[in-house]
Amino acid sequence: MRELKKTKIICTIGPASENKTTLAAMVASGMNIARLNFSHGSYEEHLKKIELIRSLEAKLDRPIGIMLDTKGPEIRIHTFVNGSATIHKGDIFKIYSQEIEGSALAFSVNFPAFFDNIKINQLVKIDDGKFVAIVLSKDNNDRSIILRAQNNHQLSNRKGVNIIGGRLKMPFLSQRDIEDIKFGVANGIDFIASSFVRRKEDVLDLRNLLKEIHHEEILVVSKIESVESLKNIDAIIEASDAIMVARGDLGVEVNPEKVPILQIEIIEKCRRLGKPVIIATQMLESMQHSIRPTRAEVNDVALAVFQGADCVMLSGESASGEYPIESTKMQYSILREVERHLDYKSHATTAFYQSKTDYKDSLANAATVAAINSKCRLIIVFDEDGALSIRLSKSRPIVPIICLTSNIKVARRLSLFWGVFPRVIDLDDINMSNQNLETTDTKFLFVKQVTNYYKVTGKASVILIREKMKEGFNLREESIRILDIN
Ligand code: PEP
Repeated sequence: MRELKKTKIICTIGPASENKTTLAAMVASGMNIARLNFSHGSYEEHLKKIELIRSLEAKLDRPIGIMLDTKGPEIRIHTFVNGSATIHKGDIFKIYSQEIEGSALAFSVNFPAFFDNIKINQLVKIDDGKFVAIVLSKDNNDRSIILRAQNNHQLSNRKGVNIIGGRLKMPFLSQRDIEDIKFGVANGIDFIASSFVRRKEDVLDLRNLLKEIHHEEILVVSKIESVESLKNIDAIIEASDAIMVARGDLGVEVNPEKVPILQIEIIEKCRRLGKPVIIATQMLESMQHSIRPTRAEVNDVALAVFQGADCVMLSGESASGEYPIESTKMQYSILREVERHLDYKSHATTAFYQSKTDYKDSLANAATVAAINSKCRLIIVFDEDGALSIRLSKSRPIVPIICLTSNIKVARRLSLFWGVFPRVIDLDDINMSNQNLETTDTKFLFVKQVTNYYKVTGKASVILIREKMKEGFNLREESIRILDIN
């Protein structure tokens, strides 16, 4: 049988990967989800990518999730006269909220309430934290902020600005984000990665918007990338469907040495609630320009999996780097190797102690233990809405979870969950199964389809899980069976 990689790979799609050949090779190399970064690109460009992904999905017979990453309430510099300006350590300069043509003495940002949100002595970091300045004073007359540079740096157009600490008083969903989300949802995206979430209410605002536009099924992934989001982390995880540890901005807002500890803490919190967690940014950064990663990068990907991440992400590596396919293949190889060494018994035990007292948890725990003890090859689950597969994913079973559903949208959403391999089956087949699944022949028919697809050969067993309503009796039956095949 093919060895199946269980940790999911999210690839950001950009100029380096938005062509059919590259994208097809990335999917074949292990990409599960395409991330579209709405901080860049036109609707026309995004639509082309969505259409390409959907056509590949049909051709390759593999559900592919699409994640819209919002611009979010971020602050950016406007522009400079010549596109850039160099500021030196100790230089005094001004920041305006009214748009001006920037220079080394003064420039402006795209946040009208910048002046009101900033305090004296606060630090302002620009360009991924590469430039730091301290606020000296505020001029009420022209509503400018006066700052002193803490280091030398060449600033250029539209670089991101982080105000460190404090609470930004700006609405979470800008008109631009609302339009982007409406566009994405209308064109069939599956997840929204919500940038710069600050508190639970931000997640609820997004959910309200999704409700208004009748798309509550879209999964909300909150990006943790600010000091404020860290303060409210428990409530944010609770309110979200999944979490992304967005280490790029997080490492600007807090000192970089804090990020590894935060990563472990956030993963643990997510695992406890069975919410998928994505580790993002600079995982194989050097592969933007090198065919081989650094050993430290390989270690970073491996550790994320040992710590319990559901997904690892590629950003520049797959969007604009020279080696998008090789980066995906590299992540695949690391994930597969680490998954051979995971402590599956310990994961099963932890999930057991974190269980709820309901039938999904009972089924998931029982199947996970049976998979270890019976040395079976697959768990196959008839699971229309994916809920049982999601719970199984929390237990980290030693074998892949094959989820059979007739709903392609459910299948796409499951691309986020560790260890779940969604397969779309024909509704007519399901109807047949409802009438006849109790007969061994029909059960074997489904199992055969799956085992043939995954190339399970020789003597092997699989675990089959099925929920069924017994019509007329108001009785629900859940069953776990171990089937010997071949
Ligand atoms: C990050 O900051 O790590 C991140 C994933 O967000 P973005 O790439 O949108 O800046």
